[in-house]
Amino acid sequence: MHHDQAVAIMTDIMAKFTNYIGKHLPDDIMETLGRLRATENSPLAKVVYDSMFENLKKADELNRPCCQDTGVIQFFLKAGADFPLLSDIRPILDEAVRRATQEAPLRHNAVEIFLEKNTGNNTGDRIPWIDWDIVPNDSGITVEVYMAGGGCSLPGQGKTLMPAAGYEGVTQFVFDVMTSYGVNACPPLLVGIGIGGSIEVAANLSKKALFRPIGSRNPDPRGSDMEILIEKGLNEIGIGPQGLSGTNSVMGVHIEKAARHPSTISVAVSVGCWAHRRGTIHINKDMSYEILSHKGVIL
Ligand code: SF4
Repeated sequence: MHHDQAVAIMTDIMAKFTNYIGKHLPDDIMETLGRLRATENSPLAKVVYDSMFENLKKADELNRPCCQDTGVIQFFLKAGADFPLLSDIRPILDEAVRRATQEAPLRHNAVEIFLEKNTGNNTGDRIPWIDWDIVPNDSGITVEVYMAGGGCSLPGQGKTLMPAAGYEGVTQFVFDVMTSYGVNACPPLLVGIGIGGSIEVAANLSKKALFRPIGSRNPDPRGSDMEILIEKGLNEIGIGPQGLSGTNSVMGVHIEKAARHPSTISVAVSVGCWAHRRGTIHINKDMSYEILSHKGVIL
């Protein structure tokens, strides 16, 4: 395939996919919301879940975004080192965002720092954000599209602790953040926790934790235990759907980790809201694709 033709096809795929993600939640979030609704006993909590499902149905029928805040658009890549369009990724994704913004349409959420001016097309300085992982000996690319809403980005915080603070200190930080800001983020929440030796590592890992499928566990049994304990504790706070109280506060708690400096332990939290708009697509070098997050969807 000619290079320019491949660029045009990938731009088209990513524009359509970004548009689609603004309107449809991934399979695991849909399944989790249904499961959580079944655990609620109070009529108010059930009504809140019913309004979410009604909202999602209307978004599908009317072909409109499922939340007015379509967020800052972020792409997290696992790019094969042999994928033929690596040099074109930035212009492809910029153009895909501009087109999705117009065609969906998506709200304009890119405000330039210092200028304090909204660019009007969801692109700006380093936005859409692109995070790269290069995969050796691979010729495809897997793209996570994420719409980072304002309310669910608000609890995003991090801190570097003295090592004596230990995992108790990490846990206390998570609970301080969630009890202060969790309610702003349209619960039930997906809580991503990053633990490492410096703050940017922890922050990046906390966001990547939000891309793990719900129900997955940290492969380290201690990490998995910590996820389960924090999840239980956050549910016991009783925030409930939309913060109106209920049996469950969270859809899940995911921890990602990196080895730390002996003298530091950094922790960061990122949060996804009930309208957790993330999508995963794999594109092969011949521009055929498979959508992994929303089974059976063809763009
Ligand atoms: S927190 Fe999520 S559901 Fe609530 S307004 Fe923001 S993007 Fe929408």
